[in-house]
Amino acid sequence: MRVGIGTDVHPIAVGKPCAMAGLLFPDDDGCEGHSDGDVAVHALCDAVLSAAGLGDLGSVFGTGRPEWDGVSGARMLTHVRELFEAAGFTLGNAAVQVIGNRPKIGPRRAEAQQVLGELLGGPVSVSATTTDGLGLTGRGEGIAAVATALLLDK
Ligand code: MG
Repeated sequence: MRVGIGTDVHPIAVGKPCAMAGLLFPDDDGCEGHSDGDVAVHALCDAVLSAAGLGDLGSVFGTGRPEWDGVSGARMLTHVRELFEAAGFTLGNAAVQVIGNRPKIGPRRAEAQQVLGELLGGPVSVSATTTDGLGLTGRGEGIAAVATALLLDK
């Protein structure tokens, strides 16, 4: 078994549709970024790459690689899964927590878990919290996410 950790933070981009945890929240502002700005997916990708010892988002999808410009969270997870499976691992489970005021994850948690779980090939738990008005997430300036992943030898 191998455990990994990932975190991500992006500034909010007012008027950009919100991609979060593999879902689209059309009524919420999304995040700026090189990709669709899905911080939950980015944290998950970093967690599984970390567990597999395959580097991190910067080394796999770095901003110097124009082929990944505007890439969707689903495409990133699919690629990361290809990498960890090629390295001889399967997903034991993963968990991601979104930290921010919006979007509201709870009502769509089951949907997010299903989408992310299918993409990564194992159970993915999705949770969310706020920071009680404190810091960049509390002021609504950005959204953060933290994730863990457990990989198993095939
Ligand atoms: Mg990111």
